[in-house]
Amino acid sequence: KSERPSVIIVGAGISGISAAVALARAGVHDVLILEATDSVGGRIHRKRFAGHQIEVGANWIQGVHGEKMNPIWQMAEKLHLKTFFSDYSNISSNTYSQSGVLYERSVVEQALKVSEKVVEDGGIYSHSLPSDGHEDISILGFQRIKKHAPATPLEMAVDYYTNDYESAEPPRVTSLQGTLPIRTFTDFGEDDYFVADERGFESLVHHLVNQSLDTDSIKLNQVVRSINQSRNGVTVTTENGSHYRADYVMVSVSIGVLQTDSIKFHPQLPQSKFSAICQLDMAVFTKIFLKFPYKFWPDRNKTEFFLYASERRGYYTIWQELEKELPGANVLLVVVTDDEAKRIELQPDESTKAEAMQVLKNMFGKKIPEATDIFVARWWTNRFFRGSFSNWPIGLHSHDFNRIKEPFGRIFFTGEHTSRLYNGYVHGAYLAGVDSANKLVQRIKKMERAKS
Ligand code: FAD
Repeated sequence: KSERPSVIIVGAGISGISAAVALARAGVHDVLILEATDSVGGRIHRKRFAGHQIEVGANWIQGVHGEKMNPIWQMAEKLHLKTFFSDYSNISSNTYSQSGVLYERSVVEQALKVSEKVVEDGGIYSHSLPSDGHEDISILGFQRIKKHAPATPLEMAVDYYTNDYESAEPPRVTSLQGTLPIRTFTDFGEDDYFVADERGFESLVHHLVNQSLDTDSIKLNQVVRSINQSRNGVTVTTENGSHYRADYVMVSVSIGVLQTDSIKFHPQLPQSKFSAICQLDMAVFTKIFLKFPYKFWPDRNKTEFFLYASERRGYYTIWQELEKELPGANVLLVVVTDDEAKRIELQPDESTKAEAMQVLKNMFGKKIPEATDIFVARWWTNRFFRGSFSNWPIGLHSHDFNRIKEPFGRIFFTGEHTSRLYNGYVHGAYLAGVDSANKLVQRIKKMERAKS
């Protein structure tokens, strides 16, 4: 190994690791990965919760059983990762009003049908728009065109399930052209599989590391603070004052981190690039796990998912019981997003528990047992993430989106937020890593040819 690596990768999430693996496969082995936290995997991360293994970040392999093979699904199959098909069809039998009345199945089904049809038509409309994006509208704008802007608690809950549960931001914010049709589902298939494996979803990242990388090529607890480039190379400086030199850098930190000044670039990133970075949204998708002494929710209609149709949009709307995944654990998972998620991240867990308990009481009656444990994932307040995943907002044009990924001199970029087709997803992060690595390999080869 040479003293000076040819490439430094900032961040050991799946995108940084897949870039390193792709570089190694192309013959570039002198790579050093600097990771701020004490583990690899980034937003794919497991944790022990009340004696059970839970995923605090990515949980589903999304886009399965379609025309193309999702590379993450392929890896999961190879590793025999334990996964469970998420059957959302039972939602229509398990939707509750704020006063605890179960909606009639046919009523919920009708609302779901309308909501899904708008998404489908949105995909067709998206193709009819000029590609430069100047006629792009929000998802809500399109709902209005179709005369289906949600107005009742049930319509809002179904709308939240159809849109926010996927993009973590409301239809008012989300770009129609940037997000529809959802290529993850049209390319890789409509099915979602929930990962619940003792080894964790992150074992997939460990597998990539073990297959192609030296363990000493990854340095943990290295918080990068600045990246200086000159004609001769780059210098990366960490919070603890270490300097690392290389020919190139690949930055894989989240778009939320890039929007702050936690990493300083010298010279600064071009204004047009930084402006594009600041326009993409870092959405917040917060998972809350609650454990109970016994199961109190009804068994009818395969309860796995249930909806709470509050008058306040997005207030503890989507619940999932984990009986299949964690048998006998009596654990519920509830997801909140956007402003509600930020509010909840900032308040003490006891307050969140009290709110969640009240919602459950509204649905299932006052006699239910108190939760014994709660875990609230906090990705937004974490300075190494600043949110959960990117979402394409109205007003961001595709030429700006492409700028986010464009190399700046010797600095290359990767991460889920650079994936044009699959941003926000694990497979998007993985494929972006491969793609950015290939671009860097082309550059290295070009420079070598120029030298010889
Ligand atoms: P990251 O995983 O963020 O990797 C970047 C790395 O950079 C991190 O390890 C970070 O610690 C490190 N870093 C940051 N700052 C510095 C610094 N200054 N110096 C050094 N290192 C630094 N996707 C799905 O497909 N399915 C899902 O079900 C799903 N659910 C999700 C739920 C949640 C709650 C979250 C948070 C994400 C979810 N995602 C899901 C999205 C998916 O997890 C991400 O798209 C993907 O993991 C991003 O990988 P990445 O390598 O681009 O970024």
